Amino acid sequence: MSKTTITYNQIDLNRLKDKLSSPKKIVLLGHVSPDGDAIGSTLALSSVLRKQGHTTKVLYPTPYPPSFDFLEGASEAIIAKDRHDEACSILEDADVIFLMDFNEPKRVEQLERPLIDSKAFKVMIDHHLHPTGIVDICFSYPQKAATCLITYELIMALGWEDFIDKKVAECIYTGMMTDTGGFNYNSEDPGLYTALSVLLEHGIEKDAITSLITRSFSIDKVKLNAYLLANNLTFYPKFHTAIITMGKKEKGMFDYQVGDTEGLVNEPLAAKDIRFSIFLHEQVKYTKISLRSKGKFPANEFASKFFNGGGHHNAAGAEVFAPLKTVYDMVLEAVKLMHPEDDE
Ligand code: 5GP
Ligand code: MN
Repeated sequence: MSKTTITYNQIDLNRLKDKLSSPKKIVLLGHVSPDGDAIGSTLALSSVLRKQGHTTKVLYPTPYPPSFDFLEGASEAIIAKDRHDEACSILEDADVIFLMDFNEPKRVEQLERPLIDSKAFKVMIDHHLHPTGIVDICFSYPQKAATCLITYELIMALGWEDFIDKKVAECIYTGMMTDTGGFNYNSEDPGLYTALSVLLEHGIEKDAITSLITRSFSIDKVKLNAYLLANNLTFYPKFHTAIITMGKKEKGMFDYQVGDTEGLVNEPLAAKDIRFSIFLHEQVKYTKISLRSKGKFPANEFASKFFNGGGHHNAAGAEVFAPLKTVYDMVLEAVKLMHPEDDE
């Protein structure tokens, strides 16, 4: 049996089934700056639950990249940044809240308090290490490549496979594809391909969806990414590390839109000598750190040790409430203390 094969806890499955045995008001909540996995898993489960007579609302703290607009239900998602009061009352009124693709309440930022205070039955579905916060049922499997894959396996384990249709399959595929970089890393779980095979049977146009997500950007986005790689990347050979920055200036030059630098942090890893890639993205109130590594170097340990962040072994992140320049200096100091070694 593969190390990623999971027997889902039957007691938890039964408790969830019991809870959902009559129509409920359900919220599917994804993390701040939702990515393909947060979006795909929340939309897929929302659709499957709606088909069973529940009322569902999908909620994200901040907007999702427009390249995911084509997914069914995406345009109805509530963005708390624009509709804060409504988002808070939805959490308060909910019977059940699914916390999807995040492991701690602070990952929903301004919704942290309303989430904690809500009396709803809470179910976490996630694949980040060290789940925290009080939930009633926790389906947390860090060995799994994507929350979308766990969601798929749970749907099957709950006997809900008849509620998977082509639209749901597209959502599930999206998170499996994006969280594995198109099945290029974190992608050796045979279960991924078992699921993929079933999704293909449901008629998803896999290559077309991949294109919609990864090849549908504006010229400005392509130029912004090329500009940042050419002008704002510093390579530290001794540490096998590259740092890329993006400040307000560059955003202005290329009409930056949410999601325009999605994936950029992966690019330096194409160089043999770069094993740790850092992208610093200045926001209005903080600087976002994106981290990617290849091989043994633990990006998530770097994020949590120095910046109170987290993530996976090869993909992690953090937010620091300081301007870009200050964060750059902090990051460089941290890299001097912890970086890939010559033999890694
Ligand atoms: P990205 O660089 O794509 O934003 O994030 C990569 C991974 O790191 C994701 O799995 C995400 O969950 C995690 N991550 C990103 N930012 C943060 C953060 O601020 N805190 C924590 N705990 N994890 C983060
Ligand atoms: Mn994920």
